Amino acid sequence: MKKRIYLDYSATTPMKKEVLDEMMPYFNEKFGNASSIHSFGREAKEALDIARDRIAKAIGAASSEIFFTGGGSEADNWAIKGIAFANKNKGSHIITSKIEHHAVLHVCEYLEKNGFEVTYLDVDEYGMIDLEQLKEAITDKTILISIMFVNNEIGTIQPIKEIAEIAKEKGVYFHTDAVQALGNIPIDVKELGVDLMNFSSHKIYGPKGVGAIYIKKGVKIHPLIHGGAQERKRRAGTENIPGIVGFGKAAELAIENLDAHIAHIQKLRDKLIEGIKNNIDYVRLNGHPTKRHPGNVNFCFEFIEGESLLLSLDMVGIAGSSGSACTSGSLDPSHVLMAIGLTHEIAHGSLRLTIGDFTTEEDIDYVIENLITIVDRLRQMSPLYEKVK
Ligand SMILES: *Cc1c(COP(=O)(O)O)cnc(C)c1O
Repeated sequence: MKKRIYLDYSATTPMKKEVLDEMMPYFNEKFGNASSIHSFGREAKEALDIARDRIAKAIGAASSEIFFTGGGSEADNWAIKGIAFANKNKGSHIITSKIEHHAVLHVCEYLEKNGFEVTYLDVDEYGMIDLEQLKEAITDKTILISIMFVNNEIGTIQPIKEIAEIAKEKGVYFHTDAVQALGNIPIDVKELGVDLMNFSSHKIYGPKGVGAIYIKKGVKIHPLIHGGAQERKRRAGTENIPGIVGFGKAAELAIENLDAHIAHIQKLRDKLIEGIKNNIDYVRLNGHPTKRHPGNVNFCFEFIEGESLLLSLDMVGIAGSSGSACTSGSLDPSHVLMAIGLTHEIAHGSLRLTIGDFTTEEDIDYVIENLITIVDRLRQMSPLYEKVK
């Protein structure tokens, strides 16, 4: 079979075998509804409790502060709409950043159309927010700050603890989307001092369609999904037990192997970054040089279209992603690359390669070798490149 190298771990991850093994019985043998009184129900409820304990342990929370959702996006929606609706008597102002995931940005835009006011903080060339600008943005109407932990495109890690301190001082809730952080950097919600934090299972080698949110005890929030009394009346709907079991196992494995995982992907990330920098000219590393997701590589290649680069890489079996929103049918470059100050032209030549547990040294060698040839070939076809050469 043709060689295939997956370097899109920030888009989704393959499930680990241990995760799948643990999930399997809950599809048929142990199929009970966790709300049922009988033994079938109790079996499901026990599994649910264990999974909740595992997520809580992974982030230093109490189990009663963890709520399961249908994924990371749902949890982002819940955090923001739930806080907005529950606290509108206090104020209607929300602060976020220009580089959030669409599950945060589009929720904020929706709220703007429904009576709320949103401030979108700028970021610097590395994708970092400015704490002074944050302080100045807070008014007596501000009810929520939502700033992501680790950016999914360029990997930049925000100063979460410092943001939480500012929020606390001003009596404002602080939510952070930690989908890219869990399993890639150590997390302790108590030490960080955040009020809400959300996660997604399929980004940490668990199944798709399941996520969780940490809601600190005492936080005033409305439900997003109304219905039955599941998740302590805060998230209705019969629990996705197999998914939740898988997520719990994935989180447990992620924490057990955290140091080795980070060491492994960081080494390969640095090898790939060096390999690109040393062998290809007219490139720019996007994101912060050190405060960065250990598996994130994001480059702009001048005089090249990101789409052509992706297609050429795909032809030699390499799976990456680009910063332009081609999937949405528009050719607009990523809002993140725009926010760090890139021109449309430069941003169009972006490539994100994200490394994970199953990536090997040989994979990276193969990618560097192929990138050199492909970039060179594509540039030979560029009239702009001819001029600067
Ligand atoms: C993937 C991702 C999400 C969405 O999670 P889903 O489970 O796919 O809905 C939200 N935020 C960030 C930062 C992500 O990377």
